[in-house]
Amino acid sequence: MTVKLDEKLEPIFQDVLHRNPGESEFHQAVHEVLETLGPVLVKYPEFADKKIIQRICEPERQIIFRVPWQDDKGEIHINRAFRVEFNSALGPYKGGMRFHPSVYLGIIKFLGFEQIFKNALTGLPIGGGKGGSDFDPKGKSDDEIMRFCQSLMTELYRHLGEYTDVPAGDIGVGGREIGYLFGQYKRITNRYESGVLTGKGLDWGGSRARTEATGYGTVFFTQEMLKARGDSLDGKTVVVSGSGNVAIYAIDKCHELGAKVIACSDSQGMIVHEKGIDLKTLKRIKEVERRRISAYTEFHKDAKYVEDGNIWSVPCDVALPCATQNELNGKDAKTLIENGCIAVAEGANMPTTPEGIVIFQEAKMAYGPGKAANAGGVATSALEMQQNASRDSWTFDYTQKRLEEIMIDIHKNCFETAAEFGAEGNYVLGANINGFLRVARAMDAMGVI
Ligand code: GLU
Repeated sequence: MTVKLDEKLEPIFQDVLHRNPGESEFHQAVHEVLETLGPVLVKYPEFADKKIIQRICEPERQIIFRVPWQDDKGEIHINRAFRVEFNSALGPYKGGMRFHPSVYLGIIKFLGFEQIFKNALTGLPIGGGKGGSDFDPKGKSDDEIMRFCQSLMTELYRHLGEYTDVPAGDIGVGGREIGYLFGQYKRITNRYESGVLTGKGLDWGGSRARTEATGYGTVFFTQEMLKARGDSLDGKTVVVSGSGNVAIYAIDKCHELGAKVIACSDSQGMIVHEKGIDLKTLKRIKEVERRRISAYTEFHKDAKYVEDGNIWSVPCDVALPCATQNELNGKDAKTLIENGCIAVAEGANMPTTPEGIVIFQEAKMAYGPGKAANAGGVATSALEMQQNASRDSWTFDYTQKRLEEIMIDIHKNCFETAAEFGAEGNYVLGANINGFLRVARAMDAMGVI
């Protein structure tokens, strides 16, 4: 790890390493939070005495289970699925499900750990959790996806509940998968328990603006960071990695606010379109046809597709990593700075490596970590739960307004917390400490739990 820990925190980290061997992403996420908590223990020594940090680093419950399913040819497959119920001090466990072949316990634990602080930052009553499977949805038929989701829920349902644990989507899990999961939950339990899953369809308990929320929220956060520096997104050139749900709606909001997104990507290559990415085409390729991004050039001859291209080498004012963890390293951070980039906000979870973060911090970049910058998705999930609980359905404008207010509030809290701890403009420290204190105070109030 690049940054040395405070002497009180190093043994806590060593313990995490020892208890969770081989889970490098989880170690990385824990280290990044511990790096910023030194000053908190000075100000609140009782949290050290009561071992609040050690308790937060150990999930409350971890569930690992088998998911057998049959493909369209009748062949049987076995996947492994996880649900890590990390912390319920602030509310029911809340966090998405990720379906991707790279998924193993260490990935779900890193995501669940991040989710604790992210969810706390929203100011809404949600605890932290995450789940997923090493199932690869790419190339599967709708029927295969349905059978997989039904099999997964046949085990998972017993651990869920609107007051217990509320999953949603993440990479590889969108509206289609949430539909199959909800249908199976409803069938097994004989309960129309709308608040047990979020990201539902609009006709059956979903919230308007949930689909757009993560991408929109990241751009609202970017706008706030720029505002704090007397600037705005208007007229800026933006590069967005990824081309999934988060990337698509980040591009959408950037364009609405007067910026121009000139590049986006998938795991095989990138598109550079100097005129500005055409969202209609992108949505058609990704959401309707479910194809590779290389198809974009069929519709726009003036766009360039670069196989294996490094998107961070495309000069821009603002960079939004919206793909996956560790997609932006130290070298990429340097390249962005050399090319004049002034702001980075993370739509993905932990997309910047520890080396990259240090480089951004040293350059005093306006750098918004995922916990803060992409909290709009889960915040709107909490708004969906609110609508479900009151049997209500809000308008798009009202829901989007609430999302914007929440993102402005998160920015303000991170900014002010950083200043309070003598680290003006350090959103990593501001987000970690603000989120931590909310969880720590609740745990402290509830005794040794
Ligand atoms: N997967 C999203 C995240 O990383 C959303 C989770 C949710 O809505 O519960 O925050």
